[in-house]
This record gives sequence, structure tokens and C-alpha cells, in this order.
Amino acid sequence: MRALVARAPGAPLRVEEIRLPAPGPGELRVRIRAAGVCHSDLSMVNGTLAPAYPLVLGHEAAGVVVEAGPGAAVPVGTQVVLNWAPACRRCWHCRHGEPWLCAANTAPAVPRGETADGEALHVTLGLGAFAEEVVVPEAAVVAVPGDLPPERAALLGCAVLTGTGAVRNTARVAAGQSVAVIGLGGVGLSVLTAARAAGAAPIVAVDVAEAKRGLALAAGATHFLAPDDRLSKEIRALTEGRGVDHAFECVGRAATIRTAWRLTRRGGAVTVVGMGGKDDLVSLSALDIFHSARTLRSSVYGSSDPDREVPGLAREVGDGTLDLTPLISGLVTLDEAPAAFDRLARGEGARWVVTFPD
Ligand SMILES: [Zn+2]
Ligand SMILES: [Zn+2]
Repeated sequence: MRALVARAPGAPLRVEEIRLPAPGPGELRVRIRAAGVCHSDLSMVNGTLAPAYPLVLGHEAAGVVVEAGPGAAVPVGTQVVLNWAPACRRCWHCRHGEPWLCAANTAPAVPRGETADGEALHVTLGLGAFAEEVVVPEAAVVAVPGDLPPERAALLGCAVLTGTGAVRNTARVAAGQSVAVIGLGGVGLSVLTAARAAGAAPIVAVDVAEAKRGLALAAGATHFLAPDDRLSKEIRALTEGRGVDHAFECVGRAATIRTAWRLTRRGGAVTVVGMGGKDDLVSLSALDIFHSARTLRSSVYGSSDPDREVPGLAREVGDGTLDLTPLISGLVTLDEAPAAFDRLARGEGARWVVTFPD
């Protein structure tokens, strides 16, 4: 079967024939129907993250169970969303209500299957979802209704869970609170959508790309601003001089974390959703940390339990409460996926979703 494979950091992406093992005990074979191109995939292509190669990319996907290994209980035919951080339910974090920090989930690439010429292959975050099929542990899927469009279901597995969880679980945005969102990829747009659903106002979207303005307003922003010299002043003009209650950093850079910090009011909260580099240091003065009384924290996988929250999000998408239309920039084939990575690298659109024929 065919899959999108990265051979090395910076190498051109290719669709290759690969082989996966049959599902073992507690494992499932899932035929992928749709998979979103996420910024973390791009990080493994351009070398920001360098896991093991050759690597099947993709970790935000929905598909249908086509084979269950011994003891696996999910019925064949079930539509599922893939979960890239399945909780072990036994470690300290799992037992203390923090399954998103599960100690069992640390590897960006897991060995599984082989290339057509017999070379050992790795799969992204235990999934490798830009492939016609995946073989995954049963804990790495969440069942959703079969009539949920797969290109929407796929997004629940990363961008939507992350963005929505950052607003609802990590920051706990309340109605009437002011919000700024920096960086408008799939996650940033999900933050806007969830902030609007929470009744936040104003909701200020910030991005270097003016082309994101229309997307931002469609997703829920009340204002769109460029990150230039006037930004702090403009934010203060919208918040009675204070700054926002909540700033969400969805880029993963020290410079934008500092911007988020500056835009937040005294006593407000900065939530870092973007994943940055290990050498990119954020500098804040000791006096500023004390005097501002701000909270700075990160949101890993939306501080969420996908087993509990993905079904709820699926219901919200189904009944129209959560509108994912602004997030989906276009559907592409697996062969068009490398071009979609190029578009993401240029900051074009929100989510490009690879779909597979039934
Ligand atoms: Zn992702
Ligand atoms: Zn655990």
C-alpha cells in the first residue's frame, strides 16, 4: 500500500509502497479516509524536529476499522479518529487526571513496517496516517459516528482538540473575557472558533499574513491585527487600556511568546499552544514576572482526554455548534500531499486535508 514517506530532514517527500505487519493482540488495521497536514508534520520534514527516518508522516486522521487483532474490541466498520497520545491509564499522570502528559507517550517516531526494499520504517507519533492504512493499538483510536464527514472528523484528532482544549480546559475562557490569538494555522483558527463558542469578546487575531484576515473573521475573530509596532497600543485600545485576559500563542517561538506576554493584562494568562525549539530562549525580567502577576503555561494536546472529548466534539460538529468550515482550505490526493506541505510552509491557507477514495 501507498504512504507519504520522508527519507531525511529536508529531502523531498515521496509517495512510496510500504508494508505494515498484520494487527497483533489489541491492535487494529484502519483504512484512512482523511488526514490533515499539520505543522508538526512540517517540522519533521524541514528538520525542526529530527526523529528517525525513513518516516511515514501524518498524525491527524480519521478512518474505518477494517481488521481487529486478537482481543481488540472495536468492531470492523467503525469510523474512528486517530489519537496520537493514547493514555496508558496506569502511570502517575494518568492516575492523577492528566492523561495528556502520559509517561508512555514520548517518542515522535515509532518503528513499524518496512519500505518496499525491506528497510525498517518508522511512523509519526505511533500513527503514520498519510497512508492508505495504519496498524495501531486499540487505545489510539476513538470511535465517532459513521456519518461525520471524514475530512472534519480527521481534524478532531489534532488541531481541533488542541485549540478547543486550550480554550476550554487549559485557559478556561469565560463569556465576556477578552482573547488574543497569535498565529493562525489550523490550531490558531480552532482557538478562535472555541473562543467565540465560549462567548469571549473581543477576540483579536494576530498574524503576519494579511491573507489570513478573512479566515480569522470567519472562524470567530472580532478584529484582525498585524504584529507590528502598533500592536500593543491597538490591543489596549480594545481593552480599556488593560490588555487581554487571555493570550494564546500558536506559533511556538520565543518572540511570539514575548508578544503574547506583552498583550496580556496584569493578572491575565498566556497559554502557549505552539511547539517551539529547544534553543529558542524566552527572556522576561524578574521584575516584570512579579509585577505583572501573569500566568504563563503551556497546553499540551489541549489538556484533554481524547477518549472523553473527541466524541463530544464530534457531536458539536454534527449539530453545527462547532463549524469547522473555515479550517479546511482544500482537499487533496495523497500524490498532491507534497505540494500541500509546500503551501503550509508558505503559510497559505489553514488545513489542507488529504482524502483517500473509498
Ligand atoms: Zn498535529
Ligand atoms: Zn499514562
